[in-house]
Amino acid sequence: MTRDSNVSELINITFQVRLDILEMLTLAKSGHLGGSLGVTDIVVSLYFNLLRHSPENPRWELRDRVVLSAGHLAPALYATLARAGYFPIEELKTLRQLGTRLQGHPSLGVELPGIETSSGSLGQGLGIAVGMALAAKIKQQNHKVVSIHGDGELQEGAIWEAAMSASHYKLSNLVAIVDRNQLQIDGHTEDVLSLEPLAEKWKAFGWEVKQCNGNDIKDFIQVFNSVGFHGTKPTVILANTIMGYGVPSIENDNRWHGKVPTNDEYESFKEQLRKKYRDIFGRSSAQPK
Ligand SMILES: [Mg+2]
Repeated sequence: MTRDSNVSELINITFQVRLDILEMLTLAKSGHLGGSLGVTDIVVSLYFNLLRHSPENPRWELRDRVVLSAGHLAPALYATLARAGYFPIEELKTLRQLGTRLQGHPSLGVELPGIETSSGSLGQGLGIAVGMALAAKIKQQNHKVVSIHGDGELQEGAIWEAAMSASHYKLSNLVAIVDRNQLQIDGHTEDVLSLEPLAEKWKAFGWEVKQCNGNDIKDFIQVFNSVGFHGTKPTVILANTIMGYGVPSIENDNRWHGKVPTNDEYESFKEQLRKKYRDIFGRSSAQPK
């Protein structure tokens, strides 16, 4: 079922999810902070506004599917799924603990409700999403398949093989979202292995290309809702984001790709996050945890 939360409700949820991410990673003492904070607005918008799904019946056949191809962004997905009701919020504190269902990267093996596929080996998620979208077409089901990718991930060759397949099979039910924060573990994407002209590349592979601000919920929702879904082309959304969004002292700093806060930094980051949301809400609505 679609959850049609309004924009200020959604922003409040992103605040809570970002607090969850900070706490989870601080407790786990390992994980990927920058990208998880950066992609939060996209993941929350999908689960609380854009997609048809059912936390009470996670395997509902007609649900829209999400493939988190950039599996290291799992904290954002886990926190969003818990807040949507897929599993107890308390379980978030078990991230990366021995025996947990919240593995460092999503795993089908632990049967966490809401997880559609194992992921984290970069470049593989688009092929999985192509398979899901093709299966839906063959079965004449009209659900959507959404994959989420890091921009550095697009340097994997398997992405482009899957991109070719998606347009060949006219998978208009498939949307790939690229978390375009311009950064990857080793630095700026254009310095490591340049991606540009990125929009033109996707177009050349037969995709419809859209762009938006991936940290602006209104903009992202508007662009996602402009996707045709019934045409002949798959769609890619190049979502411009800021790594570490919400905590100004770590924003746009690739050293925070795979780093976690110390206890002191955790307190500072929470305070920065509260201030950021007080600014967004004109110092009214966002309630500190
Ligand atoms: Mg990136």
